[in-house]
Amino acid sequence: MDFELTDDQKRIRRAAREFAEGELGDAIAPYDERQTFPHEIVKKLGPLGFLGVLVPDEYGGAGLDYVSYALIVEELCRGDASVGITMWAHNSLCTNHITVFGSEAQKRRYLPRLASGDVLGAWGLTEAGSGSDAAALRTRAEWRDGEWVLNGSKAFITNASVGGLAVVLARTDPEQRSRSISAFILERGTPGFRAGQPYRKLGLHASDTAELILEDARVPAAGLLGERGMGFVHALQVLEGGRIAMAAMGVGIAEAALGQSVKYMNQRTAFGRTLAEFNGLQGMIAEVAAEVEVARLLTLRAAYLKDTGRPARHAAAMAKLFASETAMKAASKAVQIHGGAGYITEFPVERIFRDAKLTEIGEGTSEIQRLVIAREILQLS
Ligand SMILES: Cc1cc2nc3c(=O)[nH]c(=O)nc-3n(C[C@H](O)[C@H](O)[C@H](O)COP(=O)(O)OP(=O)(O)OC[C@H]3O[C@@H](n4cnc5c(N)ncnc54)[C@H](O)[C@@H]3O)c2cc1C
Repeated sequence: MDFELTDDQKRIRRAAREFAEGELGDAIAPYDERQTFPHEIVKKLGPLGFLGVLVPDEYGGAGLDYVSYALIVEELCRGDASVGITMWAHNSLCTNHITVFGSEAQKRRYLPRLASGDVLGAWGLTEAGSGSDAAALRTRAEWRDGEWVLNGSKAFITNASVGGLAVVLARTDPEQRSRSISAFILERGTPGFRAGQPYRKLGLHASDTAELILEDARVPAAGLLGERGMGFVHALQVLEGGRIAMAAMGVGIAEAALGQSVKYMNQRTAFGRTLAEFNGLQGMIAEVAAEVEVARLLTLRAAYLKDTGRPARHAAAMAKLFASETAMKAASKAVQIHGGAGYITEFPVERIFRDAKLTEIGEGTSEIQRLVIAREILQLS
């Protein structure tokens, strides 16, 4: 068994770390405070190849593997999870859906623009009435006079109002359930297609989350992504890769929390000693550090399985479950280690704590990951 990254993977991780250390962290605090989107910073991800990570180079992407992708997401989320989720939704969901299931014409039309960062991508599966039970979605697409007409709305969509392009899942056959759902590509400016007001959220304040609203939105035949009726089946495959990246997001957030804890424990004194000298706090740090390492190994293993074409669903669910709960635990311990300082906005752990929670909810909640894992172990359908 070889735990060593390749030279290329190490180089990519270094580039992502340098970007995160130079551009994220404290630089994001004002955006978080004002709840505004850091357009200037996100634009810089394109030339680095971070907006077309999994896109083959013939379509203008970086053509990297999932292990490299997980390393980039981890490093960016260690710097700032709002920028991390922005690039995650763009790469894992919208761009990857088109990369894997798009026609040649769709790939030529959209991937170069997505990979360069010319446009950001959004992906709409969730609706107000269907999240975990995603196949219950109600958005309708009807074939009328030679085009698709979409009606409905999507809830909690990352990059909804800053995105130039969205992949949206809609029901094309009201009679059936999962085999009646199809995917569509919608460009910003399509009449009847718009984003709602961005939500005000617990965390990830510098990321964009809004509704996508479809009111007689017209999509030409060429906008159908993949075969009619296969949208939900394809979405499940998109989500498998997305979960690996969401696990990497958890690892990055946990690392950030751990790093802040170590820094503070070496600075702060109480009873004539630094906090680093107190056994109780050492125990917390040791436990979190061990769990971060496990989370990273699970994540890279799932990425490796995906890269080598082996089934990764179970491994992705385990990685996502463990890494997201590690992120939440590491963030909670970091606030505890900071005492009162952890509860005020002056120190980054307050933001990290708020941001961490999303990893237990997005891309399938922890309960859904447990369900996926248990079903496989128990061999239930
Ligand atoms: C910041 C943010 C960004 C997001 N970005 C996107 C995006 O870009 N695109 C997109 O499509 N969606 C996105 N989502 C939506 C996200 O994927 C859903 O919120 C998530 O899947 C949970 O669905 P729900 O909110 O409807 O919760 P529900 O499904 O209503 O779940 C409520 C509770 O019930 C539990 N539960 C549900 N079913 C079961 C079960 N069978 N067994 C046990 N417990 C169960 C859940 O675990 C949860 O605790 C985003 C959400 C947020 C908050």
